[in-house]
Amino acid sequence: MSKKKIESNYKKKIDLLTSYNKNYYDVSKPLVSDKEYDDLKNSILALENKYSYLRSEESPSKIVGFKPSKNFHKVTHRAQMLSLANAFEREDLMNFEKKILNFLSKDKDFKLSYSAEPKIDGISASLIYKNGNFKTGLSRGDGKEGEDITANLMTIKEIPKKIEFKDFPEEIDIRGEVFIQNSDFKNLKDKFANPRNAASGSLRQKNPEDTKKIPLKFIAYTFGYEKGLKAKNQTDFLKNLNSWGFKINPLNKLITGIDNLLINYSRIEMDRAKIDFDIDGIVYKINDFELQKRLGNVANSPRWAIAHKFASNKAISKILNIEIQIGRTGALTPVAKIKPINIGGVIVSNATLHNEDEIDRKNVRIGDLATIERAGDVIPHIISVDITKRDKKSQKFIFPKKCPSCGSKTIKEFNNTTKKEDAVRRCSSEGYDCEKIAIEKLKHFVSKEAFNIEGFGKKIVENFWNLNLIKLPQDIFNLDFKKIENLEGWGKQSMENLKYSINQRKNISLERLIYSLGIRHIGLENAKILSKYFKSFSNFINFSNEVNLDDILNIDGIGETQLLSVKNFFNNKINLNILKELQKNLEVKDSSIKNKNGLLNEKTFMITGKLNGISRAEVKSLIEENSGSSVSTVSKKLNYLIIGDKPTKKKVNKAKKLKITILNQSQFLKMLNITS
Ligand code: NAD
Repeated sequence: MSKKKIESNYKKKIDLLTSYNKNYYDVSKPLVSDKEYDDLKNSILALENKYSYLRSEESPSKIVGFKPSKNFHKVTHRAQMLSLANAFEREDLMNFEKKILNFLSKDKDFKLSYSAEPKIDGISASLIYKNGNFKTGLSRGDGKEGEDITANLMTIKEIPKKIEFKDFPEEIDIRGEVFIQNSDFKNLKDKFANPRNAASGSLRQKNPEDTKKIPLKFIAYTFGYEKGLKAKNQTDFLKNLNSWGFKINPLNKLITGIDNLLINYSRIEMDRAKIDFDIDGIVYKINDFELQKRLGNVANSPRWAIAHKFASNKAISKILNIEIQIGRTGALTPVAKIKPINIGGVIVSNATLHNEDEIDRKNVRIGDLATIERAGDVIPHIISVDITKRDKKSQKFIFPKKCPSCGSKTIKEFNNTTKKEDAVRRCSSEGYDCEKIAIEKLKHFVSKEAFNIEGFGKKIVENFWNLNLIKLPQDIFNLDFKKIENLEGWGKQSMENLKYSINQRKNISLERLIYSLGIRHIGLENAKILSKYFKSFSNFINFSNEVNLDDILNIDGIGETQLLSVKNFFNNKINLNILKELQKNLEVKDSSIKNKNGLLNEKTFMITGKLNGISRAEVKSLIEENSGSSVSTVSKKLNYLIIGDKPTKKKVNKAKKLKITILNQSQFLKMLNITS
């Protein structure tokens, strides 16, 4: 890679990191997970290491937090408020200690004592006291200048406003963490992703009256500028803080030796879910102030302290219960309900256990301490449990042999391809006989790829089901809108919108209708094949009278499993009734034979980004109806790339390179003479 390219790549990363910082520190609404943030930060640091000519004032090796917001008056910190270097492994701690010993010119047997303090995941504040009076309170800001948030900090009960102890220094900046307890966060969880964002958002409200409504807490742990402080080390200082009326962390400990730091780390990590505030690691500080002074600071962190972080994609918590969820196809999925825990900025309270076999294989029981992983967008899952910590009275989890929803037998099917019994256990009832399956089927029916009824989300399906407004698909087209208008959270406008969305979808293609029925093993592709075979909705319904499998056995692309599934579907009286009722309510378009003279004949299309008011499936079927075809990669064979909101940059760049015509949604629709 050329120097210019490396520099531009570096700059792009720095700009991205700056935008993440703004959203995290200033707006209190992070754009990405801590893991993603840390990965980007580390990739920048690695680039700086490799290419010494890369330099930026915005480099994560130099900056702290984010510049103060314009909403507050800026105040310069009398002593900078720094960040902390991070450690993850034993090796990082060994290096940290080694560097300190080298710097102090001590031999390797010199015993360093550390104040080990659980690192509260809140936001730091500096409280300026003069002659025992709390005068000014500042946020960290960019470390040099903070925001004057005195009025907001004054609302926190745990911050002493006047201190009358003789040994309290004449002047001192007391520093600590403002946070929200997990038990209080429960009431705010709809507004913020995690307690840290909630604390940051609440503390930095323009109006202190708004801050007052939030039960913010304060734990003190260090000082900035001081005049008249007597303590000689951190442990004594922490004791002082406590005697002056500040809350300190009850889990702080004085520890010597890396091995002992690690033992303490594991213990606290194990008990993390029991603590009523979020911690994201343990801070180790050289205890002796004299040594701290000699060690001083590097660009943005003290040389005498390090944060031993917990992994941002894993955590340990207790399994409170194992619940069984029932999916649309009757699959029983065990889900561990865990004591809520913050994993890389996301509060996790459910973790999937996948299936019955997985519970056996991992030997999981209710009450166990489990390691939970949350990686990317994947559903959090249990990695393992700690059998040594298991309660002697705990019992093996018995997977239900009857469906918890309808009481039908649960079965494991024999898989003809693998010649093995399935790992998944299923409810044996067919579709709408089982309440939980029925709800899931209805969610599928209205979903984007199926009927795509705008505004008819999963929550509404559940709500309408509970209110007996919908039990079967046809009920969606016979809703009592007067009743809906008067429901809590609804009104005339929202009711009218829903009515409009439903009416819009009464005209539907046969393939979409077949897909919407949620017949097991019949996905979009198979639905398309079946619709081409049956041609019309009445043919499809009439097929139920014959149930002659042999007739359709030779449809290209439809296998035995799918056919059996279709047959099962038709063998169920409720399903037959649904079809008849839907026929009364819908206008189902016959499947058209591929028209070779359509407007898009022989043209290929690909979609990237979010479309507006039209699903990808619908665009794809429009393309096909007009003799075009959809492809899934950008190559020379592609004629048009349709871009929606937030398209994948890589795809757009590649298309530009290959000189492929790029269309937005309305340009594409214009090709079909449709005005959007
Ligand atoms: P930090 O969280 O790594 O550590 C410094 C902070 O620790 C101090 O400012 C203080 O507030 C706190 N702390 C808690 N207990 C303490 C104690 N006993 N002693 C001293 N300090 C204590 O530093 P940072 O620079 O604020 O944040 C960096 C981290 O924040 C990143 O590694 C990332 O995980 C996260 N972050 C995430 C995003 C995102 O978009 N998701 C953006 C920016 C930062």
